[in-house]
Amino acid sequence: MSKLVIVGTVAFDAIETPFGKTDKILGGAATYIGLSASNFNVDSAAVSVVGGDFPQKYLDLLENRNVNIDGIEIVKDGKTFFWSGKYHNDMNSRDTLVTELNVLEHFNPIVPDSYKDAEVVMLGNLHPLVQQGVLNQMTEKPKLAILDTMNFWMDIALEDLLSVIKNVDVITINDEEARQLTGEYSLLVAARKIHEIGPKYVVIKKGEHGALLFHDDNVFYAPALPLEEVFDPTGAGDTFAGGFSGYLAKTEDYSFENMKKAVIYGSTLASFCVEKFGTERMQNLTDKEIHKRLDQFKSLTQFDIELT
Ligand code: AMP
Repeated sequence: MSKLVIVGTVAFDAIETPFGKTDKILGGAATYIGLSASNFNVDSAAVSVVGGDFPQKYLDLLENRNVNIDGIEIVKDGKTFFWSGKYHNDMNSRDTLVTELNVLEHFNPIVPDSYKDAEVVMLGNLHPLVQQGVLNQMTEKPKLAILDTMNFWMDIALEDLLSVIKNVDVITINDEEARQLTGEYSLLVAARKIHEIGPKYVVIKKGEHGALLFHDDNVFYAPALPLEEVFDPTGAGDTFAGGFSGYLAKTEDYSFENMKKAVIYGSTLASFCVEKFGTERMQNLTDKEIHKRLDQFKSLTQFDIELT
């Protein structure tokens, strides 16, 4: 089993969906990735920063799911990153209402020594210079470096983002962001352009419409599981990334064939995340629940057809 280093925000989120509204609750890319990857029992560590206002019980929550938190710096007199978003009625698109970087503004990531040789690095959503800073600290080139990002960083740090994208093997990005990054409407063309920047594998997430995996001229598509109840899509993309990277770290097989399975695991875990507000559904997920849903996934997508 490989070690997994996870980078990303650990945050307070305030969310509004057509079904309700929350005050400041636990959120952040690294939080969702860590909770999701923990389902594979991999040896993982989160690298992030929080302020003195961040409750210990949230850190305990990650630790209790076996995510090492030595790389989460606590800035006692600082405030935790805060994000607030409001979903449209279709739940597939949202507006960011507030992004307060706070302690993230002057964050220098430190990878714990015992994770500097990790085989898999999941660079979750955070400033691209922080993502690059983590890559630079790895004593050996990771077998797989995966990067996730969002429009916010394209808007304010595009050059830094393009530089770090060059150095990773896989990028996971949503459809709108792939279009923004490349200026191409067709996702096939967008994926090709992203390949040209560097990553050999491109995963384009399409929310409730599933995910596409591109490698050279190969494309694999996994739908999202149709769900009766979608309360809050926040963190679905990160949960996908956690499932994807966690599965690959566990199996240590970084081939395109195995990445197809990683996409299925990512989609399966994301399908749980959206069922409740924030991280609630991800906190106590069981193997049994995951297996049942994987089974549903299989019957949703399997068919026999005779080609004549
Ligand atoms: P997702 O819904 O998967 O795109 O991720 C939502 C999570 O990303 C929330 O929990 C936020 O705290 C976090 N987030 C929002 N904006 C940013 C940003 N600019 N950088 C890093 N993380 C962010």
